Amino acid sequence: MMWSALIANLAVVGLFILAWAHAELILLMLGRRVRAAAFGGVMGLGAVASILLSVEMQNGVLFDLRSTLLGVSGLLGGPITGLITGTIVAVHRLSVSGTGATADIVGIVISTGLGLLGYGLLRGRPPSTLATLLFAVLATPLALLSFLALPTQLLERGLSDAFLATLMLTVVATFLAVRALVFSQQRAEETMLFMAAADLAPDFAYIKDPRGRFLLANQALASFYGIARALEMRGKTDFDVAPPDRATALFAEEQEVLQTGVPIFEREELQVDDHGNERWFTSTKTPLYDTRGDALGLVGVMRDITRQKASDRELLASRDQLAFILTEMSDGLALFDSEGRIVYCNEQYRSMFPITGKLRVPGAFLPEILRAAVEQGEQPYIQPDGVDRWIDTVMSALRTGLDEEIHLFDGRWLHVRTKPLAGGNATVVVSDITLIKRAETELRGLTDELKLQATTDALTGLPNRRAIDECLVIELARTKRSGQPFSLVMIDIDHFKAFNDIYGHPAGDACLRSVAGALERTDRRPGDFVGRYGGEEFCAILPDTDEDGAYFFAERLRTAVRDLRRKHEGSEKGVVTISVGVATYAADDIDRTDAMLIARADEALYVAKGSGRDRVNGWTSSGSERWPAAQP
Ligand code: GH3
Ligand code: MG
Ligand code: MG
Repeated sequence: MMWSALIANLAVVGLFILAWAHAELILLMLGRRVRAAAFGGVMGLGAVASILLSVEMQNGVLFDLRSTLLGVSGLLGGPITGLITGTIVAVHRLSVSGTGATADIVGIVISTGLGLLGYGLLRGRPPSTLATLLFAVLATPLALLSFLALPTQLLERGLSDAFLATLMLTVVATFLAVRALVFSQQRAEETMLFMAAADLAPDFAYIKDPRGRFLLANQALASFYGIARALEMRGKTDFDVAPPDRATALFAEEQEVLQTGVPIFEREELQVDDHGNERWFTSTKTPLYDTRGDALGLVGVMRDITRQKASDRELLASRDQLAFILTEMSDGLALFDSEGRIVYCNEQYRSMFPITGKLRVPGAFLPEILRAAVEQGEQPYIQPDGVDRWIDTVMSALRTGLDEEIHLFDGRWLHVRTKPLAGGNATVVVSDITLIKRAETELRGLTDELKLQATTDALTGLPNRRAIDECLVIELARTKRSGQPFSLVMIDIDHFKAFNDIYGHPAGDACLRSVAGALERTDRRPGDFVGRYGGEEFCAILPDTDEDGAYFFAERLRTAVRDLRRKHEGSEKGVVTISVGVATYAADDIDRTDAMLIARADEALYVAKGSGRDRVNGWTSSGSERWPAAQP
């Protein structure tokens, strides 16, 4: 009977310690002071319960585990805790009348004091197993010294075997109680650390029991559901925090994980929040089982990957665009590394080189490709002895950049633009410019042609008035600088109106052509210039030629036309003849203008006409006839 009562007492004490171990985590979160006070209270109530279930060992001697709880309270809780427990026990003891009250109070003081002494020695640190053992072995008998205050006869009878046995039991109870509480405290603190760590993570982390209730949830998850403190999630289910559809889906999914034991690993899911924004998550759920294989619950982590998703999407889109551009662009594009090996090239790049195209693949070495292009005749315009120099130029272009036009064997022209990139690579863009080249050549021919047309007389093929004017200005300026003489010869066909009238305009044209031919064929110095001034008038520009030289030349022209012996019945000469006027700037003439020279030559020509035609006349200031000095 006595033993079973003793066991009951032990059980009550165990119950209180267990209750505390459960409450500890929550109380730890509420702060150190609250926890200390609560610990004191629970230990106090436990001691009172133990007293109420006290065992009467022998007549008048009541025994219980109050000393254990008092000691433990002081040892693990410190002064405030110990004081609270001591006070509760003392108040209870004093409220119950009976013998031995003084001895009990002394016992309470001693037990609390021993606990606090231990607390002081350990400086508040949790006791090690050895320290716990020492405390249980030393403190328990001391606490029981209160029995010494009992009447001697009781004491003599009390020190029985039963007393020793209970003493032993108390020692064991104290040891176990301290160990259990230290263990629970450590576990609570570790849990606190885990939770603090989980709260720091941006991911949503939680542990649920098999029925879907949150055992733990971190701050991120609580905040997601609009709950201020993570602790408040405890005991809630998804039905309390999420929309009903979602909660139902989650519950079904989690039940399946628990039943099948197959975890969900980083499954992506889309959720639309209250504002209609799409948010992407990855969800991981792993079931937890105890040693018997029964489900304990479920650990879950959810990660918000909305931004990652968005940047993935952008990356993919831009990569698609780039790939599209690279394949659809008309130019060939290749990327070379710093050593001259192809990293990438599009299909167009390959197809632009009909012979070496098949060599132009990633990894291929540029000097080898270039050498093949020359050896296999793709680029016949590179001289064989210049190949090495050309390869060097192209290779260094990978570092410096180059614009090159290459002419292929099939007549095509390619423009190759090499541009170095930061980091040592280089891009090469190849464009087919054959059409541009062709157009360019055609255009150049056209321009030359037009230029020729603009300065050539269509009828006679001689330089025209425009060419004469240009030549006159240029040559006059030149001889003015060199201080050389300069002569101008003006030629006019005699009675040409009459020629037209008699033989018709087409015959007139033919005559103009043959006169022009005669003038053209007349021997002259390389710098001398003969052109059609207009109508039936011609002119000769004679740089570095003095008056005598000009007369001599003019006379030869006149003879040349006369020698054509072209019939002209409208002329008193019977054949086509010309009259010629000569004007000269002598070496010492400083004032020289083309207009004045033309006017003088015209004037001299007019005099030649007046003097009977078919003759050469030089200009004089008096306007009189002047026959050449070197008349042949
Ligand atoms: P002169 O001996 O005084 O020079 O008499 P002319 O008849 O030659 O004088 P004029 O200047 O009056 O006549 C020039 C003629 O030349 C007028 C025109 O019919 C003719 N003529 C001018 N240009 C051409 C041409 O391109 N073709 C032809 N067939 N005749 C032309
Ligand atoms: Mg005329
Ligand atoms: Mg004439």
